[in-house]
Amino acid sequence: MMNIRILTQFPEMFGAVLGGSILGRAQENGLIAFDVINIRDYSADKHHKTDDTPFGGGAGMVMMPQPAFDALRSLGAEGKRILYMSPRGRILDRELAEDLAKEREFYILCGHYEGVDERILTAWGMEEVSIGDYVLTGGELAAMVLVDCVSRLVDGVLGSPESLDEESIYSGLLEYPQYTKPREFEGLSVPEVLTNGNHRLIHLWQYEQSLRLTRKRRPDLWAKYLENNNILTKDEKKILNMVLSEDERP
Ligand code: SAH
Repeated sequence: MMNIRILTQFPEMFGAVLGGSILGRAQENGLIAFDVINIRDYSADKHHKTDDTPFGGGAGMVMMPQPAFDALRSLGAEGKRILYMSPRGRILDRELAEDLAKEREFYILCGHYEGVDERILTAWGMEEVSIGDYVLTGGELAAMVLVDCVSRLVDGVLGSPESLDEESIYSGLLEYPQYTKPREFEGLSVPEVLTNGNHRLIHLWQYEQSLRLTRKRRPDLWAKYLENNNILTKDEKKILNMVLSEDERP
């Protein structure tokens, strides 16, 4: 079982996300345990203060070292992998998510307001992780994004593990368009090929759509995909060559 321990000043934010849907089921099934720890509970201050004004001036509040140090100590986090959600961090991607999914236990610290005292990060050897080049008001939403994408990589969390490799990004390509019933809706129809039951043709159509979408929207992924030695069937090679030959047209 994997154990993810989240330190935050706003534990109530996590209830709906960790308790519901796929993550809730993962916990019930004993695959993952989430501990949400309220940093305020560890404040030595009689008003449970956790933040103070920054040395050197400037706006906002900074998380004080004492509550975080005491929380981490009492949890036994010494020597453990601890992430700090932060816009200065390494950007979360597939590789990092896969790496974290292999851990048996890790910690996440969420900042709020202006951030945290740097000594918390250095003394505990924290790894800074960002979810993108924008600034949030707190690390809680970022931690939920991280926990969600890591959890679905843990064995048994998703119903059908084979669906992982077919997904956008994980397959190296963006996913093809999906359709469900009804076949006709307000005059809009589902592509004919998907309804005829020919699995070979369906697969090739989906592959072609994935290639075209990736080339158009994500030139970075497209270039990587072409560099890889993808194991392709004869039919897939034909499709890939057809799509590539269109690039050469003037
Ligand atoms: N003053 C800080 C930003 C603080 S934002 C700076 O300029 O770097 C407040 C908190 O939100 C941070 O402590 C961090 O935990 C979280 N946060 C903000 N943007 C984030 C992002 N892109 N990814 C992950 N966490 C983020």
